[in-house]
Amino acid sequence: MYGLGILKGMMVTLKNFVRPPFTVQYPEERLTQHPRFRGEEFVWYEERCTGCASCAKYCPLGIIRIVTDPSQEAPQEGGKYALEVFDIDIGRCMFCGLCVEACPYDALFMGSGFERARFRRDELVITIEDLRAAPKRPSTWFRPQLEAKGYDPHAGQTLAWDEVGRHEAPDLQAMAKRWVERQG
Ligand code: SF4
Ligand code: SF4
Repeated sequence: MYGLGILKGMMVTLKNFVRPPFTVQYPEERLTQHPRFRGEEFVWYEERCTGCASCAKYCPLGIIRIVTDPSQEAPQEGGKYALEVFDIDIGRCMFCGLCVEACPYDALFMGSGFERARFRRDELVITIEDLRAAPKRPSTWFRPQLEAKGYDPHAGQTLAWDEVGRHEAPDLQAMAKRWVERQG
């Protein structure tokens, strides 16, 4: 029938006209982020970092630069290297979190912030000083120990290096037992 299409279109308009908006008036209003949200400032615990550079090696974009001083604290005996440079160019970061996954010591966490607009690209490089000064509100992404205790970085509580916990070490005996069982 002539005009039915127009009527249907008007009904859609009318329905959406009275529906409450999904968007908020940022920056006056902010949406609540999930605790696993991968934010931009990164949370780094220097006390745990050995300078192994696994995070830099695993970054697909090669945007982490680490320079260490091997003369510190006998690294050949398992002590830590001193870090001189730890830069992350978040202007190119895709927040995949592979660097966090790769860290064997749970020294690096994704951050929980998202407001870092700058006029110049070079101002988007996070330096070691920035990492040291950043608020320690780690994202719970890839950190089940934080999720298990219900930590929410957006609630405002900061965590020190000895409060963030570690992944459970794998139970090698149980793994070996399961393997033997599978062999039948
Ligand atoms: S989040 Fe991904 S892209 Fe960004 S620094 Fe880490 S590994 Fe690189
Ligand atoms: S992988 Fe972890 S321990 Fe190794 S340099 Fe990066 S943050 Fe430090």
